[in-house]
Amino acid sequence: MAKVVVIGSGIAGLIAAVEASRSHRVTLITKSVLAESNTHYAQGGIAAVMGDDDTIREHVADTLSAGAGLCWKPAVDVLCSEGPARIADLVSFGVEFDRQNGELARGLEAAHSHARILHAGGDATGARISDALVAEVRSNVADIRENTLVVDLVLNDAGRIAGVKLFNADVHETLEADFVILASGGAGNLYRHTTNPSVTTGDGVALGLRAGAVLADLEFYQFHPTALAVPGSFLISEAVRGEGAVLINNAGERFMQKIHPDAELAPRDVVARASQAEMIRQGGQPVLLDATMLGTEFLNKRFPTISAACRSYGLNWGKQPIPVTPAAHYWMGGIATDVWGRTSVEGLFAVGEVACTGAHGANRLASNSLLESVVFSHRAIAVLGDEWPQQPQTVRWSKAGPLAELEMTANLSDPNHVKPVVDRVELQTLMWDLVGLARDAEGLRETLAKLRTWSPAPEKHRLFTDWEDANLLLLAEAVTMAALAREESRGAHYRLDFEDTITSMARPITVRKV
Ligand SMILES: Cc1cc2nc3c(=O)[nH]c(=O)nc-3n(C[C@H](O)[C@H](O)[C@H](O)COP(=O)(O)OP(=O)(O)OC[C@H]3O[C@@H](n4cnc5c(N)ncnc54)[C@H](O)[C@@H]3O)c2cc1C
Repeated sequence: MAKVVVIGSGIAGLIAAVEASRSHRVTLITKSVLAESNTHYAQGGIAAVMGDDDTIREHVADTLSAGAGLCWKPAVDVLCSEGPARIADLVSFGVEFDRQNGELARGLEAAHSHARILHAGGDATGARISDALVAEVRSNVADIRENTLVVDLVLNDAGRIAGVKLFNADVHETLEADFVILASGGAGNLYRHTTNPSVTTGDGVALGLRAGAVLADLEFYQFHPTALAVPGSFLISEAVRGEGAVLINNAGERFMQKIHPDAELAPRDVVARASQAEMIRQGGQPVLLDATMLGTEFLNKRFPTISAACRSYGLNWGKQPIPVTPAAHYWMGGIATDVWGRTSVEGLFAVGEVACTGAHGANRLASNSLLESVVFSHRAIAVLGDEWPQQPQTVRWSKAGPLAELEMTANLSDPNHVKPVVDRVELQTLMWDLVGLARDAEGLRETLAKLRTWSPAPEKHRLFTDWEDANLLLLAEAVTMAALAREESRGAHYRLDFEDTITSMARPITVRKV
């Protein structure tokens, strides 16, 4: 029976904790309450081939096409072919997906060739999944630590995982572990506008980097075109535009028709960049999403969660257009893993958004991320306790080799206290302005120079937010370095100074600590 520490309580961590607890001693650590995670806010659904009119082959093809030449085919094959079995697991854990005539209801989303998106509670899929899995964890996992922050990984002399350092209101503690499963999610809080909740500060990726794990695809951050332009940037699902809502500027004019034949239903990155350009043209004011033609009654029924969120800000979106902005949404990059969730550090797994399995390539196909979390969590637990391969096949590239292997020093603190301590809002604004939807060499170099003038707070009296800021500072530098090294535009990475996609550059960029 191994000692297993699982970090994070989104779909990836909850699945890992429940499944590992069947044969191992599990501690589940999460920095807020169990139910707080990106998972909880997922609206649209989870993609899987569940009908006779659809095939795994087509799900694979759609995923590869969205990934813009950078997907790792073995990971995509695993993702799509194991999807149906993992959906059955979720059902057995008590997730009640919406049904139509007794069958699982299946929605269609952008860039999917078939209706294969399962949803629950209408637009409350993530909350329903999270609620069911939290109940499973509460009855199966004995050691659950909420409001507890993991601040570092502990390695033994041979560089193998040996435990984690954590702290909460009561203790600073080092917990021994045979295996650590990082399931700590993405890093939306690198950016001024994000759909992610405040817990999403990339901690796991930073822990992995400091422990020597190889990271990959960091330059690929997906921006969602429509988040409510209010603090918290609540997501307004693409399905709203699918139903007929349109984007307009302050003058009440639609602007997407001039930009793409599919107008508001053009690919996410195209709509997001066009909205940002329009916002710059109107002096930073948000653009508007006009759903009034759908009427309050329909909107309340079809989108109950979004309608409630609008009401909480005093907005009736059936009667008035609502202010929206693009926002950082999903990180394709992360800690490089093999198809079993194993990283380059022995004993350390990464599953869910913290990981880079290569299944999403340069851009994620909508609703493939919940699926990736559940598929690869399950696989990680299946090999838990097996002998660690000499070199897990974590990084994939063609015979031509990696596009770049970047090395960085981990900026842990400023021993001389010369540099100012990083300010989160300044960092997020810098990243939004210069490392966001559109980048160029000048802005990326300016960002690196600015980031290097800041230091994390001294370790001695750090609060949760100080540790998070230290992680954000480290990751901001890593993302910017990777974005500078990729001198082309591909998927979610758009370079104003290199607008073409270059076939020979369809290889990953990796980052590791020296
Ligand atoms: C608004 C929104 C809508 C979305 N809609 C969809 C959708 O419809 N379909 C889809 O497939 N995907 C969707 N996504 C993406 C999807 O929700 C995420 O990719 C997925 O939930 C990631 O799951 P996870 O378990 O890896 O991480 P998360 O769900 O983010 O969970 C991470 C957990 O780690 C904890 N944690 C982080 N750092 C630490 C630390 N240092 N110490 C302890 N605990 C820590 C957090 O508190 C949290 O519990 C959406 C995302 C958002 C934000």
